[in-house]
Amino acid sequence: MFGKNKILKIEQHAGDFLDVQEIFPTLQGEGPFVGRGAVFIRLGGCNLKCNFCDTEFDSFKNLSLTEILQKVVELAKNSQQKIVRKLVVITGGEPMRQPLEKLCKELILLNFLVQIETNGTIFRELPSQVKIICSPKISNHKYHILRADILEKIDALKFIISAHNSDYSEVGEVGQSSREDISIYVQPMDEYDEEKNQKNLQKCLNLCVENGYFLSLQTHKIIGLK
Ligand code: SF4
Repeated sequence: MFGKNKILKIEQHAGDFLDVQEIFPTLQGEGPFVGRGAVFIRLGGCNLKCNFCDTEFDSFKNLSLTEILQKVVELAKNSQQKIVRKLVVITGGEPMRQPLEKLCKELILLNFLVQIETNGTIFRELPSQVKIICSPKISNHKYHILRADILEKIDALKFIISAHNSDYSEVGEVGQSSREDISIYVQPMDEYDEEKNQKNLQKCLNLCVENGYFLSLQTHKIIGLK
């Protein structure tokens, strides 16, 4: 995290086992599904290293698909053993780094709504029901332009915005001008500094007013959820 992680390679295998950092129940805190009861599967490792990244994804365990699915179903239930968390968010690190096609198919068969949070640099052929939310990232001061195959599958783009980090000061062109139907969210970068965060929020508000973007706040941090 904070750009100190090892860059891990893209894995190609059958997807019967995956490196998992953690699986936990929560509310989706940001983006188009904000406020929904969810189970998060955080897959281990990333193919990028972003200097602002505050997510821990480097200490993972290799779990079988059966173990992952059992854990998700268990955590999706309420105290009456009824499944109430119907959204499963697969995030990372970079979830597309590992072959998660089988996991997605199984979750859909179990009637979960599946959302992937990706940096958009890796393509995998996922079931059409999967919602793909892409947060484009920068390396060497340039946005990674989205591959055409992933661009056509994306449901929403989420740009991290900072008033202090010049790389992340604007919504960059990553290919979205050819897909006007994609919703664009702007989310203030958390710089762990109240004054800076306030300026980041103001910058996002200005971008929303000027361009019709949607504001995405990290509400899980505001309300003290994981
Ligand atoms: S792509 Fe996402 S998970 Fe990976 S280092 Fe960047 S912010 Fe962190």
